Amino acid sequence: MTILIPLLAAGAAVLIGTVTLLYIHAPKTLYSSEAAHQHRLLPILASLRTRPLGSKLSLHRRTLDSNTIRNSSHKSSYSYFPVDLSSFHHILEINPSGGYVLCEPGVPFGDLLRELLKVGMTTLVVPELPGITVGGAIAGGGLESSSHRYGQVSDTVLELECLTPDLRVCSPSVDPDLFYAISASYNTVALMTRVKLQIARAPAYVSLQAERYSSFSSAVAALQSSTSDTVEGIAYSSTDILVVRGTHTSTPRSPIRRFSRHWDKWYYKSIHSQLAMTVPYADYCFRYNYGSFWMANYVLDMLGGDNLFTRFMVGSFLDTKHLFAVLHSSDLTDLGRMRVIQDFYVPAEKAVEFLEEAEREVGVYPLWLCPIKGTSTGQLLASHHSTAEKQFINVGIYGRPRQFPFNPQTLHSKLIDLLIQSGGRSMLYAQTWHSPEQFQAMYGEALKAVEGVRRSYGEEGCFFGLYEKVGLSERDRDELGRPMRGSEAEETRKVVRDILGKKLGLW
Ligand SMILES: Cc1cc2nc3c(=O)[nH]c(=O)nc-3n(C[C@H](O)[C@H](O)[C@H](O)COP(=O)(O)OP(=O)(O)OC[C@H]3O[C@@H](n4cnc5c(N)ncnc54)[C@H](O)[C@@H]3O)c2cc1C
Repeated sequence: MTILIPLLAAGAAVLIGTVTLLYIHAPKTLYSSEAAHQHRLLPILASLRTRPLGSKLSLHRRTLDSNTIRNSSHKSSYSYFPVDLSSFHHILEINPSGGYVLCEPGVPFGDLLRELLKVGMTTLVVPELPGITVGGAIAGGGLESSSHRYGQVSDTVLELECLTPDLRVCSPSVDPDLFYAISASYNTVALMTRVKLQIARAPAYVSLQAERYSSFSSAVAALQSSTSDTVEGIAYSSTDILVVRGTHTSTPRSPIRRFSRHWDKWYYKSIHSQLAMTVPYADYCFRYNYGSFWMANYVLDMLGGDNLFTRFMVGSFLDTKHLFAVLHSSDLTDLGRMRVIQDFYVPAEKAVEFLEEAEREVGVYPLWLCPIKGTSTGQLLASHHSTAEKQFINVGIYGRPRQFPFNPQTLHSKLIDLLIQSGGRSMLYAQTWHSPEQFQAMYGEALKAVEGVRRSYGEEGCFFGLYEKVGLSERDRDELGRPMRGSEAEETRKVVRDILGKKLGLW
């Protein structure tokens, strides 16, 4: 009897554990009907009717898989009213002849592209990281190497269903001011519940041809003049810059390279040594997934260098899904002290000046350079809002500054001032270092206009303000101003331990 009880308890624990694991890892059903979608909306609408007056609607998302890496202090506000849209991750209809896909905002682009490719289709803009969701790309920002032609993901949206908190459907012809104001509003104007996106025929391959430039001015000129299907730049230093043009094709014209297996050599290194290659389309779209562009390279360096053996052994831990999970379970403040992670949309005519200043003040390499077509639609908060003819260069700075340790406030403030002088804007997915005055200079006019839209469609004050949501709180700012707890090597080792421990399920 004395033995039986612990045995039964252990058996029950194993059973509960197994069922829980099976539930967690069970494949999500990707498809759903419109009727089921409407059914999922019912409890959300019911909960909105009971919410306290003055509360602020905000998306409740399991943060481990979010690609957003800023602190979320607003969620500790007493007025935060979480809206759980975690079950809104279904594809409702793929209509190749109609040229659209209808889906819920929680569908990650990795899943969406896989399903679209089964019928030979793709969205016009596929953000580079497979975990970015349709909703996150519209309410945040979603760009890629086809953005010189199509702009951001938000420029390819045909219709939105959303909560303001009333349920509404808007499009470029129905309530266009609301429709456009949602773009890059970071859930401060409405909560999207269904999205209709443009789709087109997908190519089998992208044939890449890279050109080498030795100055920012020649590289930026090349980026601006490109008419190829895709174009992007990678600056390995201020004098070693590649401009990579891609052409959609059904037949390989150069050696085939792949980037979707964890042992594949990472794209940014491959293209540096092999200037011509043909890449299967899906591998091309998510070519920066392993290594998260280049940010995880230091892990390979620590493990004895980048080679087939190290990639084979640890590469599967170094995709963005695992890297973001680790980031979100570690202290984002440590990240802010150790790395600069920002995307700056700079008007193309000011890009060289900006890059030269970034070289002096930051010295992070590689840099990602991605041209984007501007928009003159009512996407007032979007970083590429301007005129349809205007071009921006997105400067992606992801890495360790040359001067280390560094003061993040001083460094970011200088870059933000320069951006304001250039007439550019930053994306707001990362830590937002703008002072209230800098934020006002960058977004003031747009925020005033968007406030009018919020008033005409929603209840007064039922969403957070943009700065309230994305700005760093005083407490976070103070914390980030303090020096790192350990040396750089110790901090880095902690990150690696986190990755391995998480993967092996040790903690
Ligand atoms: C290292 C790094 C590299 C990056 N590179 C790229 C890149 O190459 N291309 C690119 O496009 N982007 C890139 N991003 C940025 C990324 O696209 C944005 O962070 C994007 O917003 C993240 O999407 P998510 O699905 O993870 O969104 P989440 O983190 O879930 O949400 C992002 C924002 O959108 C809001 N939101 C989400 N769903 C809804 C909804 N249903 N209704 C209303 N609001 C909603 C959230 O409240 C939040 O404010 C990069 C980010 C990092 C950290």
